[in-house]
Amino acid sequence: ARQAGGGTWCHAEATTDEELQEQQSLEQDLRIALRDGQFSLAYQPFLDAATMEVAGYEALLRWQHPRCGAIPPSAFIPVAEASGLIVPIGQWVLATACAEAVAWPQPLTLAVNLSPAQFIQPGIVGTVADVLRQTGLPAHRLELEITETTLMDDTQNALRVLQALKALGVSIAMDDFGTGYSSLGYLRKFPFDKIKIDRSFISDVEEGDAEAETIVQAIIAMGRSLRLDVTAEGVETAQQLAMVKALGCTFVQGYLLGRPGPVGFPDKVADGTYPP
Ligand code: C2E
Ligand code: CA
Ligand code: CA
Ligand code: CA
Repeated sequence: ARQAGGGTWCHAEATTDEELQEQQSLEQDLRIALRDGQFSLAYQPFLDAATMEVAGYEALLRWQHPRCGAIPPSAFIPVAEASGLIVPIGQWVLATACAEAVAWPQPLTLAVNLSPAQFIQPGIVGTVADVLRQTGLPAHRLELEITETTLMDDTQNALRVLQALKALGVSIAMDDFGTGYSSLGYLRKFPFDKIKIDRSFISDVEEGDAEAETIVQAIIAMGRSLRLDVTAEGVETAQQLAMVKALGCTFVQGYLLGRPGPVGFPDKVADGTYPP
């Protein structure tokens, strides 16, 4: 059986020392998953911290494997990334999420994660433009989330791509902010609209970690001085919410405010508010 985090794929015949074979079978199963429509999207809301209204939803990939059941992204995204399969899978995510988001109430933003391999595809800007045109989603309602890793290999190319995406009218968020090495330099160099503070900092704050609180405070202050929106990710408790709101976060996201799921919870979308 598949063991969470153990690297053991779910096939009964696979043993733990057959990692290559497992990876190949996972890769093969990913191809089949794409072909047979085993992927779906869950949407997690993010809220305007000042009004506590839903501002938009982040699309998160879900895989229902016919034999293994639900497989978390952490178990298959790295293999998809390494094999290049993340490119067609990510294309599916983008097209599907944009097609679904067109039906959402007007001001809601759609956030889509872009993997490094996807971002460095020569045709990425054209791909995004095509999806927007084909789905009719206005560019300003799409936000692309990228991580620092995406920018590291070829910063000149990355800058050109980001500028071209911005020229389309989409916004760019730096995901998992604070976990990398050169986040600060990248914020100055690249045209981000938003930074998402990694949830590890938010959870440390809960444990009364004064240093974590200082870091969160510093990130928010810096984001503001650079005129960037700042999202606190992984808000799970009322105490964390109160803290990140007091520190001036623009957006909040986390299990406390809504788990990933279907869009259209009437109490959240119809009147735009989240009842705590
Ligand atoms: P991420 O982009 O940082 O997404 C946030 C992850 O944190 C999601 O996990 C979400 O379910 C989880 N999360 C949200 N709020 C909370 C909270 O309050 N507490 C805790 N403990 N967790 C929370 P998920 O859906 O398992 O995705 C994991 C990662 O997989 C994502 O991290 C992202 O890096 C990647 N991923 C997911 N979907 C896609 C996709 O469509 N494309 C790409 N390239 N990567 C994806
Ligand atoms: Ca994300
Ligand atoms: Ca994140
Ligand atoms: Ca992450």
